[in-house]
Amino acid sequence: KRVGYALVGLGHLTLEELLPAFGECKKSKPVALVSGSPEKLKKVAQQYGIKPESCYSYQDYDKLKDNPEVQVIYIVLPNSMHAEYTIRGAQAGKHILCEKPMANSAQECEAMIAACKKANKKLMVAYRIQYEPYNRQVKEMVRGNKFGKPKYIEAQNSQSSANPDHWRHKKDLAGGGALPDIGLYCLNTSRFVLGTEPTEVFAYSYSTPGNPLFKEIEEAMSWQMRFPDGVIVNCITHYNTHDSRFYRVNTERGWIHVDNAYAYTGQQLQTSHAEGLAKMKNQIVLSEKNQFAAEMDHFSECVLEDKPPHTPGEEGLQDHRIMEAIYQSAREGRPVKLTEVKGTDAFR
Ligand code: NAD
Repeated sequence: KRVGYALVGLGHLTLEELLPAFGECKKSKPVALVSGSPEKLKKVAQQYGIKPESCYSYQDYDKLKDNPEVQVIYIVLPNSMHAEYTIRGAQAGKHILCEKPMANSAQECEAMIAACKKANKKLMVAYRIQYEPYNRQVKEMVRGNKFGKPKYIEAQNSQSSANPDHWRHKKDLAGGGALPDIGLYCLNTSRFVLGTEPTEVFAYSYSTPGNPLFKEIEEAMSWQMRFPDGVIVNCITHYNTHDSRFYRVNTERGWIHVDNAYAYTGQQLQTSHAEGLAKMKNQIVLSEKNQFAAEMDHFSECVLEDKPPHTPGEEGLQDHRIMEAIYQSAREGRPVKLTEVKGTDAFR
C-alpha cells in the first residue's frame, strides 16, 4: 500500500528530484499537485498520471481537505511560506513533510509543531542526511567510538550562486543566506553523527560590500560549536566559492572523512586509523540509495505504522534555535551559550 502525496510548489526540487524519485519509492506515490501555473500543472500532471481534479492553485490549497487520496502534503516552497502552508495543511487534516530549512525562525517552527499536534497529524522536516547510507554509517562508527572517542569535526558546505533576483537572495523569503540554505547541513549532520547537542557557538559572517547577490543575505558564515566532553565542531558555509561539501571527524586513534557528504549523490567515505605502529587507510563502499525516495518512504512508513519520524518538527526547531544563536554571535562578536538563546527574530 502506497501513501498518497500532494506536492506543493513545482520548482526545481519538485520537478528535477522529487517527482522522478517516486519511481524508486516503495511506499509513496504522487496523487496531487499545487502550483500557481495552470500550464505547468497540466503538463506535469499528464507526465505523472495525476488526475486533472487533483491539480490545485494556491487559492484552492485548502480544498486538499476534501481529497481522500492525499494523506501527506509535501511543502516545497520558498522558506518563508513553509510555516503558513504547514499550518493550513495540518488544519486540512493531512500529515506534513516540509522542506528544509523548516521555517524562517524558531518561533515559526514552534507554531508549526503546535498546529500539527493540535490536528493530531505528523510533521517531518525533509532532511536527507539522516536517511543516506554513508552518513548513517558514519553515525554508527562515531557513536560506537570506532577509532576512539570523537574529538573534533571540520565541516564545510559551499557553492556559488549567480542570480540576485532569486528568492534565495531575498531575506524575507529565504530567512538568511548560506547558513539556513546549505550551512544547515554542517550543523545538523554534526548533531546527527555525535548524538549530542552544542552548548555554545561562536560565529563570524561576511558579505562582500556592493555585491548585489549579498545585499540582503550573508555570503559566508564561519562558526564553531562546543559540544559536551570538549568536542569542537568547526563549520564554514559559503555562497561564493566552487562547490565543496565534506566533513572529517577526528577521533583519538583515527579519522573518518566524507567527501560530497551533503550532495544528492557521490558520497565517498574514507577512514584512517592506527593499528600499533601501522597507519591504515580504507575506502568504504556502500550501495547508494536515492535520498529523496528514502526520506519519503520513511515518512510513509511512519504514517502507515503510526510511528514518529527520525526528523520530526522538533529536530528542525533545534536547528533554528542554534542558527539564531549563530547569527546572534556573529552580530555581537562574542560566544553565545545555547541556554542564553531566547527571542525568535534574531536572524542576522
Ligand atoms: P525553486 O525556486 O526552484 O521553486 C520554488 C517554487 O515555489 C517555484 O515553483 C515557485 O513558482 C513557487 N513559489 C510560490 N510562491 C512563490 C513566491 N512568492 N516566490 C517565489 N516562488 C514562489 O526552489 P527550490 O530549489 O525548488 O526550493 C524549494 C524548497 O526546497 C526550499 O525550501 C529549499 O530550501 C528546499 N530545497 C531542499 C533541497 C534538499 O536537498 N532537501 C534542495 C533544494 C531545495
